[in-house]
Amino acid sequence: MFNKILIANRGEIALRVINACKELGVKTVAVYSEADRHTLPVRFADQAVCIGPPRAAESYLNVPRLISAAEITGADAIHPGYGFLSENANFAEVCETSGITFIGPSPDIIRLMGEKDRARREMTAAGLPVLPGSEGVLRTPEEARAVAARIGYPVMIKAAAGGGGRGMRIAPNEAELAGLLQAAQHESQQAFGNADVYLEKYIARPRHIEFQVLGDKHGQVTHLGERDCSVQRRHQKLIEESPSPAVSEQVRQEMGAKVVAAMQALGYNNAGTIEFLLDEEGNFYFIEMNTRIQVEHPVTELVTGLDLVKKQILLAAGVKLDTLVRPNLRLRGHAIECRIVAEDPETFKPSAGRIATFHLPGGTGVRVDTAVYAEAVIPPYYDSLIAKLITQGKDRREALARMGRALEMFVIEGIHTSIPIHRQILADPDFLAGRYDTRFVERFLPAAAGLRNAVPA
Ligand code: ADP
Ligand code: ADP
Ligand code: MG
Repeated sequence: MFNKILIANRGEIALRVINACKELGVKTVAVYSEADRHTLPVRFADQAVCIGPPRAAESYLNVPRLISAAEITGADAIHPGYGFLSENANFAEVCETSGITFIGPSPDIIRLMGEKDRARREMTAAGLPVLPGSEGVLRTPEEARAVAARIGYPVMIKAAAGGGGRGMRIAPNEAELAGLLQAAQHESQQAFGNADVYLEKYIARPRHIEFQVLGDKHGQVTHLGERDCSVQRRHQKLIEESPSPAVSEQVRQEMGAKVVAAMQALGYNNAGTIEFLLDEEGNFYFIEMNTRIQVEHPVTELVTGLDLVKKQILLAAGVKLDTLVRPNLRLRGHAIECRIVAEDPETFKPSAGRIATFHLPGGTGVRVDTAVYAEAVIPPYYDSLIAKLITQGKDRREALARMGRALEMFVIEGIHTSIPIHRQILADPDFLAGRYDTRFVERFLPAAAGLRNAVPA
């Protein structure tokens, strides 16, 4: 087992990893930028090391400083959380060559899934259905036109290195294809330092269904059921739940079996998430895999009773999966998560500043994962997620009732948050009935805001 884990992240996920380490009896090292000096991970970790100025490129993305911090403090493993370096294969490799265990899958697998066009090909070979699309990265506008003509409009242009919903454009017809292609390439270059894009058939009203998997270093793989993450704005998740109201036991078994077989073929180890789109006819298509802990992992924790971050740590230490998860695990009850982001609810622009009033909901079936508090200052430099409100119940109705009353009592004043939009969604008859798809949130948005480019009807 590890003696000390360095957490290469900030905010709620840094605190989440500290919790798991404390329960396992493992010491922790927090790292922080100058903007994060007065944060809870710094306070609750056993040690804390300043790794640089506020800008992520100089701190949380600065590999030499992170490795030095681990070496100076004698950490023998690094947990990357999500975002930042969590899906950076080079970082995972540098950790390994420095004799530090990277808590995640092997660098080869991270690299493969980080090239989303290559992942499509490899996962097809491993038995997962994918959407019609380009064979690989598009080299010219002519090639894009030929592929789009073959698969039919509308088409989705996607960044090969994409994440966080960026670098994506919907091309409704040939006239607009070339311009949108350029826009997607430009955005991808800006966001990911890589302009590669590929094409996929655009699905008009899909649900986003993803499977949580765990694999060990001895060839065993299992899945922990699905999450429905269809409530999104600008291709980013806003609400997630497990199980999905749209997935029957039969479909869960069919998708789950394919997922496990594909991951076994790949030799996947540690925690990961396989994302699918489910169309209105019930067909499902692999879109990507995230080779890390997911923001929405708590909903799976609440329906399985497992601590996924502890499992990640134990799997990275070489523990066998069958000693951590019993076979034929069933989902129990229902769980829902609202991502509370510090954003202007009208424009979705990040809202930085000092929190004035702060009250957390609680009571039976309510969990809040957050690292903010009254008087905390939200810096403008990072992701806008400030809290995750998760409720559980014996069924969906009870989980929803708890979410409704928890949102009423969740008070954050001084900055803008997404709490008002979550309250609206929780009062919507279609949402309450489980009838929603990835375009559901559009109806709650002011006319001009929301989507990045026109969506065909
Ligand atoms: P999840 O399903 O875990 O929420 P997201 O795609 O929303 O997955 O990403 C989680 C976090 O990681 C967000 O903060 C997002 O901005 C960030 N992120 C995801 N992919 C990348 C990437 N390729 N580069 C930088 N940040 C990323
Ligand atoms: P990211 O890496 O940014 O998370 P994904 O490939 O997971 O990108 O897609 C994010 C979201 O974008 C999906 O959940 C879905 O809402 C939308 N999306 C992606 N591909 C398609 C597609 N081919 N058709 C329709 N919507 C799509
Ligand atoms: Mg995704």
